[in-house]
Amino acid sequence: MEKSKLPVTFNKNYKPRPTLLRDRIVLVTGAGDGIGRSCAKAFAKHGATVILLGRTVRKLERVYDDINSTGGPQPAIYPMDLLGAKASDYHDLACRILREYGRIDGIVHNAALLGALMPIEHYDLKMWSEVIHVNLTAPMMLTQACLSLLRLSQDASVIFTSSGVGRQGRAYWGAYAVSKFATEGFMQVLADETDNSAIRVNCINPGAVRTRMRASAYPAENPQSLISPDEVMNPYLYLMGPDSNAISGTSIDAQ
Ligand code: NAP
Repeated sequence: MEKSKLPVTFNKNYKPRPTLLRDRIVLVTGAGDGIGRSCAKAFAKHGATVILLGRTVRKLERVYDDINSTGGPQPAIYPMDLLGAKASDYHDLACRILREYGRIDGIVHNAALLGALMPIEHYDLKMWSEVIHVNLTAPMMLTQACLSLLRLSQDASVIFTSSGVGRQGRAYWGAYAVSKFATEGFMQVLADETDNSAIRVNCINPGAVRTRMRASAYPAENPQSLISPDEVMNPYLYLMGPDSNAISGTSIDAQ
């Protein structure tokens, strides 16, 4: 299928049908909290079997229980700290998914570190490496390990999570902003490499959303002035489901 790389404005009237993701196997990183937790629950609600990847097992267990209690397809928990994971860990994950499910239909690269908001002059080098690793290198390693599994899907979707500061640099956002610029670039490279395949690759910028990360970036902000993660799920569902079949290499704003 020929895919469009034209900029996409998300249609706010989009209504995902209840069976949108039926029989799909989807992995979400950072699935225990914030936007990742909402993605996992929304995908399961629309029929997907969700692999919940994250570093805090008790949070993943809560999401697992929520999905089970609402009658969604049985999810799977895959504990992994993206900061320390090695290529062999990603290889093991891909082997497990192949054994259990035979393929993968989607990945949401959602987990991220904010790091610190401070001038470049004072930015701690260890923190710089950690933020770049979790936000950029880990999604690259995970994607690399899973590409052969994505090729086994009839139509696969890879979603990267961007940010406003990944489009326009902003003082003091340091490694986080740089990692999000690079995420947009990586998405475009991968989209071009997979152009003649059934894999599509896109970015979402969720915009300001009421999460733990947002609260640590803007401690003085009233969280109640922000929308909740559940309220930005339609663009994620759109990009994860077959309605976005013909779209790859684009970055959409959820708000
Ligand atoms: P959040 O509530 O802090 O969630 C981040 C998730 O990433 C958590 O589940 C966290 O796990 C996980 N994570 C962090 N480091 C990890 C590691 N080393 N290994 C595995 N998992 C790790 O933040 P959020 O706001 O939902 O952010 C989700 C995505 O949206 C991020 O990519 C962020 O950059 C992006 N974003 C958010 C906003 C916003 O306003 N919220 C705006 C623009 C972009 P733990 O729960 O175990 O810490």
